[in-house]
Amino acid sequence: MSSCSDCGLEVDHCHGTLVVHEDSTVDCTDVMCELPDLLRHAFIVDCVAVLGGCCVTEEAVDFAVAS
Ligand SMILES: [Zn+2]
Ligand SMILES: [Zn+2]
Ligand SMILES: [Zn+2]
Repeated sequence: MSSCSDCGLEVDHCHGTLVVHEDSTVDCTDVMCELPDLLRHAFIVDCVAVLGGCCVTEEAVDFAVAS
């Protein structure tokens, strides 16, 4: 069913993508993820490299104009 070798080895791991934020905090895309640890994840991305990531600051935030 799965091609993940870690599943067969019963290694504690997660299939979600770990997002590393600018302040070094981490979040997993898998809501069921119990422990967002680098070692448990095969897929790790920097938040600033993710399109629409919360740490992306290349565009100024377009605040709604308050009258
Ligand atoms: Zn697996
Ligand atoms: Zn995870
Ligand atoms: Zn972020």
